[in-house]
Amino acid sequence: MSVATGIGWDSHRLVEGRPFILGGVRIEHDRGPAGHSDADVLCHAVIDALLGAAGLGDIGEHFPDDDPRWKDADSLVLLRGVCSRLAADGWAVTNVDASVLLERPKLRPHRAAMREGLAGAMGIAPERINVKATTGEGMGFVGREEGVGALAVATIVRSG
Ligand code: MG
Repeated sequence: MSVATGIGWDSHRLVEGRPFILGGVRIEHDRGPAGHSDADVLCHAVIDALLGAAGLGDIGEHFPDDDPRWKDADSLVLLRGVCSRLAADGWAVTNVDASVLLERPKLRPHRAAMREGLAGAMGIAPERINVKATTGEGMGFVGREEGVGALAVATIVRSG
């Protein structure tokens, strides 16, 4: 049995006129993350954690941000594709833990939906995914509400 762990980090600027999609869930807010795809930082951090665990590089290699195919892409679809790639290599996801860094709004009301959305895309039980939220307490780019960040750790297993 092989066990592997990967980390992922992502951040995007918050701007007016963009929808705020996090973990596949649309959150009501006066701003949203700027980006080429739907700029879902939580999905992007999870994707990088999974790719890292499997030794498959990073999200920028798989989904370049200058490729028109990924313009406004649904990041849950990208996550599903990455999980299919891992499965083809014999990997199963044991668990994912993630932290979202965001000053406001509060994410607690959306956490269950984010967990379920991620789990659905990954083909695993929601109990294997944990989504936490923390603020910047007024410090740094998170605290000044200039952007949103996400960190993720993934553990994957395969026989042999
Ligand atoms: Mg990103």
